[in-house]
Amino acid sequence: MKNSTRQQNSFKIICDIIGHKYEVSKKVTSHVKEYTCKCCKKQLTTDGDGHLTELTPKFKEINSILEEIYTRRMLRLKTKSLSSSIY
Ligand SMILES: [Zn+2]
Repeated sequence: MKNSTRQQNSFKIICDIIGHKYEVSKKVTSHVKEYTCKCCKKQLTTDGDGHLTELTPKFKEINSILEEIYTRRMLRLKTKSLSSSIY
């Protein structure tokens, strides 16, 4: 247990020095994405202003709602363009 804590801390120190290595872990909408650091597993997300912010449980909740709205809208757009291409 002690070892793993120490390892996590050293990862965090690496991140503090050279910066986090974020990769997109989830695409919520075309503008909002979730990022996870490959080193320390810290998670970020895009907020309403397009800035990166820490992925708190509150933001997770917002993102899941956003994702649902976005997916539904995309589906509707797809159906619309399909039906209009018939005419
Ligand atoms: Zn990191």
